Amino acid sequence: MLLSISVEAMVYVLFSFVVLAFSAAIVFVMLPLARRRRAAPRLGDDRAELDDLLSRKAEVYASIKDLDFEYAMGRLADGDYQELRREYKLEAGELLGRQDDLEVSVIEQEIEEEVARRLNGSLSKQHRCKACGAANPPRFRFCPECGASLP
Ligand SMILES: [Zn+2]
Repeated sequence: MLLSISVEAMVYVLFSFVVLAFSAAIVFVMLPLARRRRAAPRLGDDRAELDDLLSRKAEVYASIKDLDFEYAMGRLADGDYQELRREYKLEAGELLGRQDDLEVSVIEQEIEEEVARRLNGSLSKQHRCKACGAANPPRFRFCPECGASLP
């Protein structure tokens, strides 16, 4: 009787341990993936796309100016001129719409970064050495810069 209970208990403990280890392994593998997908890539992507878009917009505006010049010099037929100009203006309009979206997104990201930066700054202030002002991790008991004991 005693033996059967302890075998049952052992199996139970072993089973719990396996389930726990398995869950921990899943979390360990999935967490960095999920975090990376959520936070990191958007930041630089939007900024890079905005840069590309602004240079493309400058190209389109320059093309319209060239087109007007060519037309004024009499090197373009009326129909061609109107058609090309309409296409350029259409593209410029699309670029302007996308630019608005990207600028809002980039500004939001910059605000988030600034908040994170200030949060970090105020955290490191809490562990600043009173003697020399060096910022130290909270676990340090003595300042590595000047040797003063930390609170
Ligand atoms: Zn110090």
